[in-house]
Amino acid sequence: MPVITLPDGSNKTFDQPVTVADIAASIGRGLAKAALAGVVDGRLVDTSHVVKSDASLRIITSRDPEGLEILRHSTAHLLAQAVQSVYPKAQVTIGPVIEDGFYYDFAFERPFTPEDLEKFEQKMREIVKADQPVRRRVLARDAAIAHFKSIGEHYKAEIIAAIPSTEEISLYGQGDWEDLCRGPHVPSTGKLGAFKLTKVAGAYWRGDSRNEMLQRIYGTAWPDDKQLKDYLTRLEEAEKRDHRRIGRELDLFHFQEEAPGAVFWHPNGWTIFQQLIAYMREKQSAAGYQEISSPEIMDRELWVQSGHVEKFGENMFLTRTPDERVYAIKPMNCPGHVQVFRQGLHSYRELPIRYAEFGKVHRYEPSGALHGLLRVRAFTQDDAHVFVTEDQIGEETVRGIDLMMSIYRDFGFENVRVKFADRPERRVGDDATWTKAEEALKSATRAAGIDYEFNPGEGAFYGPKLEFVLKDAIGRDWQCGTWQVDLNLPGRLGAHYIDENSQKRTPVMLHRAIFGSLERFFGILLEHHAGKLPAWLSPVQAVVLNISEKQAKFAAEAAEFLKNQGLRAEIDLRNEKVGYKIREHTLKRVPYLLVAGDREVESRQLAVRTRSGKDLGAMPLEEVAARIAQDVASRGLDHLED
Ligand SMILES: [Zn+2]
Ligand SMILES: [Zn+2]
Repeated sequence: MPVITLPDGSNKTFDQPVTVADIAASIGRGLAKAALAGVVDGRLVDTSHVVKSDASLRIITSRDPEGLEILRHSTAHLLAQAVQSVYPKAQVTIGPVIEDGFYYDFAFERPFTPEDLEKFEQKMREIVKADQPVRRRVLARDAAIAHFKSIGEHYKAEIIAAIPSTEEISLYGQGDWEDLCRGPHVPSTGKLGAFKLTKVAGAYWRGDSRNEMLQRIYGTAWPDDKQLKDYLTRLEEAEKRDHRRIGRELDLFHFQEEAPGAVFWHPNGWTIFQQLIAYMREKQSAAGYQEISSPEIMDRELWVQSGHVEKFGENMFLTRTPDERVYAIKPMNCPGHVQVFRQGLHSYRELPIRYAEFGKVHRYEPSGALHGLLRVRAFTQDDAHVFVTEDQIGEETVRGIDLMMSIYRDFGFENVRVKFADRPERRVGDDATWTKAEEALKSATRAAGIDYEFNPGEGAFYGPKLEFVLKDAIGRDWQCGTWQVDLNLPGRLGAHYIDENSQKRTPVMLHRAIFGSLERFFGILLEHHAGKLPAWLSPVQAVVLNISEKQAKFAAEAAEFLKNQGLRAEIDLRNEKVGYKIREHTLKRVPYLLVAGDREVESRQLAVRTRSGKDLGAMPLEEVAARIAQDVASRGLDHLED
């Protein structure tokens, strides 16, 4: 007589053992139809799971995160079933759920084509329509290995062989198809349907390039067609904004095989990069930071002392010189800044001391993890370290947070979330010190009027941190800035100051970066603005175009005038139709297109057009210059179109 306790606290009593599906049906027809799985006493199970004794139960539908995951993984099974029905020789391997969807890796004699994907999708729809029930059965491990070997599924047999022999193996089947799986799964294939196969790519078995190459099919799945459609629209929008594509179109940068994860900046890209630096210099200087520069290559011993070799060694590049010394290429700027601080005696009266550096750092990342500007091996941090007394942590943190928020606003990011990350498993320093640092950071964040989310275990190895997450124009989150309290490194590296009682004390070091990596922030900006950077960041702010040879002289004068006013202006005197030239510069996202025809020459004016196609009419040269300058100075808040 199992008594089932539901999430609202109510009970249901049954005369005999019941399945999760039976219980859902006893609650209502709608729920019976929507049920994908259940959580029985905290354990996620299939709807066919039989409850024999008293238990708590929560019914899972596609509205629950667990339900969405089951839906996606079941769609991966559906894909594998379809692939093997179309190509019985294809072998299955693994098919996990990923963000927004799933993938499944197959061993096959050749790469799958887009036509294959269409065939698979077609087959998947047929199986959904047939509404095949999903079965579960259990085998002993060795029996499961023998079973998969007998049907030619050698990858599955290898996966199972890695599971302890005492464990039971569950298999999930639908129609004449079956797969090794922990489950749970939807009760029948008819529960699926809002899916799309998105792409196919090569992937090595177990992610190791020495193994065979498999065919990975990616797909997405959602509770209903509307959510699927919205997602595909977002995906399309993200593809249009892909910074690698914009980088090519605007001739900003490139990558090549000889320098994995390192950027070759082209003139236009480097112009933007320098604008980011110039902007940050101005803000930092006003906030009391002093800029320094520390060596990129330092003796490995220094990094042993700092703890980096132990905790961060696998990400460090090393270099050996002819004199047999081993150096490390800096992965972080912190130890260098402590060396600058250690020169000479500092009194408590001098604190806070704020050192900033546009520090180029190198960190080894596996080549598979690299992604355009967003994930690189060589990058520039807008790094700073503030040396303070323990009493100053709070006030300095509040100042820091204010500065960061004002900078994000200038770049058009209004929605910024803050996460608080505490001690990670791999760390230096004792627990009492960590507790002190965490408490100080939390209370300062509250004092800055910031609500934070908790991000457990994600702090740096030397201290807790705040992470600043920006939401972009199409709703994606980007973690950029960090603010960290460090009670460890200054002591390890022998930094001191003299307190009011003439005693030697160890300062606290606050690490902070606002852009984080300039390369990555650059990529985010390109995607956020879809390449249409505000005029203050655009490599070319205005182009002067003539209609025919007759206006060439005036056009050249006009461009010269704008340059003398400090604008990044260019001239296009090519013997092409003006419509063609306008189109070309619009594609290059130049904010202002300034046309000189006969009438303009006569009145010494320029006809002003914007890259969005707006015709603002003719204006005298001085007015054109003043209004673009206004747009630049206001960082786009006051641009000509409004
Ligand atoms: Zn599975
Ligand atoms: Zn640092």
